[in-house]
Amino acid sequence: MQNLQEYHILQQPIESFIISAEEVAHVQPDNSLEHALLVLVKSGYTAIPVLDTAFKLRGLISKAQILDSIIGIEKIEPDRLHNTTVTEVMSTTFACVKKNSPFEKALSFSINNPFICVEDEKGAFLGIITRSKLLAYLNGYLHDQKKRS
Ligand code: AMP
Repeated sequence: MQNLQEYHILQQPIESFIISAEEVAHVQPDNSLEHALLVLVKSGYTAIPVLDTAFKLRGLISKAQILDSIIGIEKIEPDRLHNTTVTEVMSTTFACVKKNSPFEKALSFSINNPFICVEDEKGAFLGIITRSKLLAYLNGYLHDQKKRS
């Protein structure tokens, strides 16, 4: 029985964990780094998705990448914030799952990623799943199992 329950949680679809696209702070590839930094600082997030005008996921941009890009050989060069676009600095490798992927896939991606992007079958961005949400759910589930045993 215990084994069946463990199987069940790992196979559960991740749809219910998605923070929908409308609630996700994002920037566009052509935005300046200054704009991206403002969005990141004001939202309090470490990294956010980069979406094009068709709402397709193009990459991720982080505070660390922006800060790294304005550091010159001997000094910080803040002018680069205006002169550089998000697309020049963003990372184009990121964790991404389909909305019908199982819990275990998202959990495994979350080991190395604080959030995972979710796309539909055509590659349209649907939202994100955060590691904290997955862990909170897993924690609740394991405590529940402990009470029942
Ligand atoms: P959290 O687990 O809520 O601390 O979120 C972990 C990371 O997921 C944040 O640092 C952001 O990079 C990303 N994130 C969470 N919620 C959002 C959101 N609403 N919009 C954009 N990024 C988010």
